[in-house]
Amino acid sequence: MRVFVIGNVAMDETFAVDRLPVEGESVLGSRRSSDLGGKGANQAIMMARAGMDVTFVAGIGDDLAADRMRRRLTAEPLRAELVTLPGVASDLSIVVTDAAGGNTILTTVDCSRSLTLDHLGRALAPATKGDMLVLQGNLTAGLTGALIDLAWARGMRSVLNPSPADPAQGGLLGRVDLVFLNDGEAEYFTAMRGVAAVRDLLARGTGQVVLTLGAAGALLGDAAGIVPVPATRAELVDPTGAGDTFQAIALAHAGARRLSPADLACAARAAAVTVSRVGTVAAMPTPDEAARLLAG
Ligand code: ATP
Repeated sequence: MRVFVIGNVAMDETFAVDRLPVEGESVLGSRRSSDLGGKGANQAIMMARAGMDVTFVAGIGDDLAADRMRRRLTAEPLRAELVTLPGVASDLSIVVTDAAGGNTILTTVDCSRSLTLDHLGRALAPATKGDMLVLQGNLTAGLTGALIDLAWARGMRSVLNPSPADPAQGGLLGRVDLVFLNDGEAEYFTAMRGVAAVRDLLARGTGQVVLTLGAAGALLGDAAGIVPVPATRAELVDPTGAGDTFQAIALAHAGARRLSPADLACAARAAAVTVSRVGTVAAMPTPDEAARLLAG
């Protein structure tokens, strides 16, 4: 099974503040670090580190940040098909962690939103029945919908993580095999949280729904019912990338099967590793760690 992750890649600039500034205020930050990020890249890298055959497709600018991202991606066990977009600045995320352990993220999506089906359709050409398409919320909803249609026409399994949440993605949730989202995103799309939100999403036609609840664990919902899966206890250092690690390891553990609670339990153990370290990609389990996690 080949996995095609089509999404964004960005530089993540992370720093800590005691508390977030209010409008017009300046506050001091510390512990600045710089890492490769973007939900598309995070998920592609984590699935590749978990041993899956991953092609990652994303747009980048023609600037210094693009050179850094290109170099950084060559260190990962995946095929990167990066589309250079002349005159567009590479995407950037500012991640601010506060003393309470929460994080606030500001992301530019100029590259992701400049991509068209002409850029991306070619990347899916080798895909066949049984392959998997993994999408997030950074492309335009129109392009995401067109890619879901392409995946369906080729008999591929489609996975959507509608983050960052955008109202235009609401209509796409019922058109994919599997949706991963956190409780805040679930509330955004359904005006409900927890079990009620999962029921609402299943009623739209999504095959399986995984709703993550941070340290409170996750819910797996499908026609058989809704099952809670606890988180693995961890010392919280930086929660960035927890959701991407969780999703990638759940998919890697399941392989070609539908997701089961055992897949989410393995994902929870991997996400516990990510939250206990600083950074995004740097915090995620390495290939050796992923192999040990997957072996149980
Ligand atoms: P992010 O956007 O920060 O990547 P998310 O909001 O998409 O994350 P969460 O619901 O915060 O995703 O977390 C995903 C999974 O990671 C949870 O289901 C849980 O298994 C694990 N996790 C998150 N926070 C913690 C924590 N503090 N301790 C242990 N596990 C955690």
